[in-house]
Amino acid sequence: MAVRIRDAPLSATVSLRDEVTELLQELIRLDTVNPPGNETRAAELLRDYLEEDGVACELYAKEPERANLVARIPGSGDGPRLALLSHTDTVLADPAEWKVDPWSGELRDGEIWGRGALDMKGQVAASAVAMASLAREGFRPGGDLIFVAAADEEVGVDIGLSWLCAEHPEAVRAEYSLNEGAGDRVVIGERPFYLASTAEKMSSPFTLRVRGRSGHASMPGIADNALVKAARMIQQLGEYTPEPRLEPEVSALFEAVVGAPPENAAQVLETARAVDPLAAELVEPLVGLTFSPTMITASQKRNVIPALCEVTVDCRLLPGQPQTEAEEVVREVLGAGDYELEWVEGYGGTRSAMEGPLWDAIVSWVADTEPDAAVAPICLAGFTDSHWMRDAFGTVAYGFFPLRYMDPQVATRLVHSADERARVDDLELGVEFLRYAAQAMS
Ligand SMILES: [Zn+2]
Repeated sequence: MAVRIRDAPLSATVSLRDEVTELLQELIRLDTVNPPGNETRAAELLRDYLEEDGVACELYAKEPERANLVARIPGSGDGPRLALLSHTDTVLADPAEWKVDPWSGELRDGEIWGRGALDMKGQVAASAVAMASLAREGFRPGGDLIFVAAADEEVGVDIGLSWLCAEHPEAVRAEYSLNEGAGDRVVIGERPFYLASTAEKMSSPFTLRVRGRSGHASMPGIADNALVKAARMIQQLGEYTPEPRLEPEVSALFEAVVGAPPENAAQVLETARAVDPLAAELVEPLVGLTFSPTMITASQKRNVIPALCEVTVDCRLLPGQPQTEAEEVVREVLGAGDYELEWVEGYGGTRSAMEGPLWDAIVSWVADTEPDAAVAPICLAGFTDSHWMRDAFGTVAYGFFPLRYMDPQVATRLVHSADERARVDDLELGVEFLRYAAQAMS
């Protein structure tokens, strides 16, 4: 794979801004839609790019076409290791919905267009440029500076970071890590905040098996329709709102915005609604578990009343909240009845402390970059690869990649959607932040 960036005769004078722009364009042009992924293309491009500046690279692949890249600037002593985490796969894109070819990497009005620009090839490119530029300058951290461009984050069939943590732990072990998840600049009240994610809810979907008795659909009275029974339960779960609970991240977020710690969770919700609808949207999923019924199957025949109806419920638990507790809630909401509950899986639900050198680095970078702004921690309602690092090594893992110039609400709508694009200004800022964090940790 040719890396055109360094073919330019004046490469020494190419700015980091140009470098990250071109690298992101090249990454977007490699189709890594998962499935099937084919992330090896991206891993090889990044390896070729990084090795030119002497960064040691290793490809780890459970399947040859789906390699993970791990690059490293070795530390000089026994300082803490910092891992810059990312993933190279993307979700699919339907060109018919887009204004440009989703794999064009077109630069238009200061924005780079294409699938993965925000989620998350932009951060992949910025991390690689931070590594390469630091290596060029002879940067020697105290502990290893590690860059992981993992495969398979979007689907999760255990060939990406989860597999690396289990099968090649020494390659990726780190005391600290930075990943996707947050970094958005939001204005709450009148003040700007940069969100830093320090925790994630647990993705904990379950299947509800509702039992009845089959019969001919022409005579409903002789049967017991499982689909009709399930409908009532779906409604009950859909209407459920949990008793609000005060978690440390929400408490710290409140304190950052209001200036004093909250008394209870109800006060947080009330204040959030009064301050800003955006604040309320942020906080509501973080004060309790959520149920979202999303899939249903019942009879396979129009004229047969189903004896069984299966409802899949997307359920998110607070960090550390056990499934047994959620099951009690479900039984309380639904009451007694002909149903069984089966957990499909449980991923995530981990947190890191909102203090220490990496936290301080984020806080001081924000203070330097925009003195009026502050950092606010957040628990993510979704799941990222940070979980695997926390789980395997007790890594202090944060989601932080600054998004200052693009409106975060616009960005949120573009992720996994048509016309995804990233502002070059944000990418340049991202490179600056990652370089700053690496230097602050050394
Ligand atoms: Zn992502």
